[in-house]
Amino acid sequence: MSIEKFPSFLNGAPKHLLIDGQCVPALSGKTFETRNPATGELLAAVADAATEDIDRAVAAARRALEGPWRRMKPFDRQQCLLKLADLVDTHFDELSLLDTLDMGAPISATRSRRTRAVGLLRYYAGLATAVHGQTIGNSLSGEVFSYTLKEPVGVVAAINAWNGPLGMAIWKMAPALAAGCTVVLKPAEQAPLSPLRLGELCLEAGIPPGVVNVIAGGGAAGAALAAHPDVDKVAFTGSTEVGRKIIQASAGNIKRVSLELGGKSPNIVFADADLDAAVPGAAMAVFANSGQICSAGTRLFVERSIHGEFLERLSAYARTLRLGDPCDPDTHLGPLVSAAQLDRVCRYLDAGKTEGAVAVVGGQRKSGPGYDSGYYVEPTVFASVQDHMQIAREEIFGPVISALPFDSVEEVIRRGNDTPYGLGAGVWTRDVKKVMQVSAGLRAGSVWVNCYQLMDPAVPFGGYKMSGYGRESGTEHMEEFLNTKAVWIKSA
Ligand code: NAD
Repeated sequence: MSIEKFPSFLNGAPKHLLIDGQCVPALSGKTFETRNPATGELLAAVADAATEDIDRAVAAARRALEGPWRRMKPFDRQQCLLKLADLVDTHFDELSLLDTLDMGAPISATRSRRTRAVGLLRYYAGLATAVHGQTIGNSLSGEVFSYTLKEPVGVVAAINAWNGPLGMAIWKMAPALAAGCTVVLKPAEQAPLSPLRLGELCLEAGIPPGVVNVIAGGGAAGAALAAHPDVDKVAFTGSTEVGRKIIQASAGNIKRVSLELGGKSPNIVFADADLDAAVPGAAMAVFANSGQICSAGTRLFVERSIHGEFLERLSAYARTLRLGDPCDPDTHLGPLVSAAQLDRVCRYLDAGKTEGAVAVVGGQRKSGPGYDSGYYVEPTVFASVQDHMQIAREEIFGPVISALPFDSVEEVIRRGNDTPYGLGAGVWTRDVKKVMQVSAGLRAGSVWVNCYQLMDPAVPFGGYKMSGYGRESGTEHMEEFLNTKAVWIKSA
């Protein structure tokens, strides 16, 4: 790809942190590199935040919380969010290209997320003027009036994974700002570019300096932010392992925490399903974003009577998918985000084969001209998988499906739930009774019936069990950023 196609944001200059409305280098002067996973090409040097930078960002967020942002009325915050929505819309080609370059998602996919990104901002702009408490009748003697107020939780640390850099940043920021909180955003070190650019747009939208701060850096920066005594709430998206560390770090000042963690989601296809829809549905429930999706339907349960036929059709479909340059509009699957992720996925491919699973399609790193300098893995479907195998139990975060035959509704509910995770689940059938039984029986935060991975700003998303707690999207997400204060008034 020629340099002319680069967004002007990638002008060769190091990318700075956004603190208190200023783009500043890290105090240490240190930077880290962010590279294009399709080619290995350097995209930018990015300021590497350390504790002293995080202190400055949190202090700026606190000042803004107690100063200009608190003084602004809900209507004013709403106008800022609407303006930001317009700016994200206007700059969406640039923002989506930054994500494609930085983490390898195909441009057709990143471009298709415009409605969601802009829609989230507009949805929460709407809710900014709808925050309210209740008047609550009490049973005390005398004239005692009681009511509740909803107040912003305070300074929010938003720490994100790499697999949807722009969308995830907006997802956390929009309700936090609508609720009146201020934010220190730490995008993942693998893909910090679009969140840094979004920070600039926040200023352009009239959001006062310090209300949104963007800190780039790795796990150490995330850990410092999660443990910071002046952060009131951590909103985290990432692995279950790091989620546990966030809980521990929150103990110092008893922070509020919400966690969007990993998954190993069951996707269940009954013999009566519309297979023309279920085949691509099951494939893209995993292969979209090259499998780097928390709620990917990686445990594909197929009713035994159609298991063979389904696998044949699924494999044929997988072979039609174009793996390649993510900037090419015809590409379906781009590379994985990093060499480390490639190693991880390849280790699972080896483990699957060693344990006796058979790759009916894919099964290895994609190599050859155009692929060798990137981190490409072939879309893979494993058959002859047993529930206890590593590939059927652990989150791979790559384009790998484990296909598992089943015989009955009760059995598939039991096996579907036999995982520490509980993020998403899919059911494909025309039988309403099965839909009711399976959607009630599965312990998962989202159940998609005859579809997969549908999302909407108004519909809550989140985990059961070790997939986390708290909900993102919808009015429930606003509640994550609000405290309830009860006020009692006795007539004097
Ligand atoms: P990760 O947990 O390694 O990193 C996520 C973020 O946490 C990064 O910004 C990282 O720098 C930071 N971090 C690392 N160590 C930290 C620490 N000790 N304290 C605080 N922050 C720390 O996750 P990842 O590998 O970047 O992303 C993949 C994982 O994210 C998968 O498990 C996936 O399922 C999960 N995920 C979940 C959702 C969801 O909505 N449930 C969405 C996307 C990704």
